[in-house]
Amino acid sequence: MSSNRPDIRPQLGLRRIINVSGTMTSLGSSIVVPEAVQTIDGVLTEFIEINELHRRACAAIARATGAEAGCITASCSSGITIAVAGCMTGADLARIEQLPDATGMKDEVLIQVGHMVYYGAPIEQAIRLAGAKVVPVGQSTFARPYHLAGKITERTVAAVYVVSHHAVQYGQIELAELCTICRARGVPVIVDAASEYDLRGFLAKGADLVAYSAHKFLGGPTAGIVAGRKDLVRAAFLQNCGIGRGMKVGKESVAGAIAALEAWGKRDHAAVRAREAGYLKLWMERLAKVPGLKPSIVPDPTDNPLDRLKLEIVPAEAGTTAWALAAALAQAEPPIIVRDHEVEHGRFYLDPCNLHTGEAEVVADQIAAVAVAIRGRPSPDLADLRRRQYEALLAWPDRLP
Ligand SMILES: *Cc1c(COP(=O)(O)O)cnc(C)c1O
Repeated sequence: MSSNRPDIRPQLGLRRIINVSGTMTSLGSSIVVPEAVQTIDGVLTEFIEINELHRRACAAIARATGAEAGCITASCSSGITIAVAGCMTGADLARIEQLPDATGMKDEVLIQVGHMVYYGAPIEQAIRLAGAKVVPVGQSTFARPYHLAGKITERTVAAVYVVSHHAVQYGQIELAELCTICRARGVPVIVDAASEYDLRGFLAKGADLVAYSAHKFLGGPTAGIVAGRKDLVRAAFLQNCGIGRGMKVGKESVAGAIAALEAWGKRDHAAVRAREAGYLKLWMERLAKVPGLKPSIVPDPTDNPLDRLKLEIVPAEAGTTAWALAAALAQAEPPIIVRDHEVEHGRFYLDPCNLHTGEAEVVADQIAAVAVAIRGRPSPDLADLRRRQYEALLAWPDRLP
């Protein structure tokens, strides 16, 4: 993606980071597509009738997903919260105003233990925010249909199913079977598909509602999308008169999310894939030459049409560790932020999405240069490194020395 606009970051006092970690809230999520930028720019200075704009969004989501209806929320996380709330209240405004006090309502939400992910906050909290209770199903790597069936009671209001690299990828009840069991017992299924490119498959497999992030692969503004059964989408939308008010989504995000969804439908996905393949090839060739670095190309763990570069760092040959290299890259000039959630295994990943023209070359040069520069330097202890990151968070807005 290229942009002719001046880089506003120095004006804001911010570093010009290059993000090869993926679409992360902590890094500003994604490069918003030009169609959404123009729409947001246009709508910001006008009055609009917000519920009419939401009706346009509903139609756009229905077209893109094949669902009966859809609504825009503040985020995928708030989408999960209001989807759960909608299942609890239906279109009953008295109940909607009563939440998060769930007295007199069904309030148990089922989720497989292997799906209890942390995406910057625990998913269980997104469920509990509605006033619901989380009911775990199975164990982390072992959930079977009998575990699910055994947890369904007259208080069960919904089941949440998570599609994510954060979730355990084996030993889980698969979506179609979970939907069959839940449907037979009248329990709606909500899918968290925040980062999934597939806008139709989860509903096609039987989900009642599915939630996406607008600001991840779609390249939209910060927002969420909830799609599915019209009665449940309506009930979720009506939470704007209740707990959803504090998760309000503004006109710019609704209009921008519509534009991003429509742009996604017209995007030349093959051309994007080819561009990303070019970056991966460049990184492979360049980094394979650096002693101790072992690059390879790996598919996305949840089957998005996306490959990443896996970079294994062999300490005995590289004279450093994966976490020391990742930390040094984040402090380099320009800073390179890598996908570092598996550094304890001696590897990190480079995500080829969301790069401006010319950045892929800088990434390759910088990793090669930094790996050589820190060769032989004592590596920090990983636990210490993580403790320092945690202490820095707790010290916000002060900066630790
Ligand atoms: C990113 C993510 C979320 C949160 O999405 P937001 O739109 O940022 O709230 C929820 N679930 C999963 C699996 C995610 O990856």
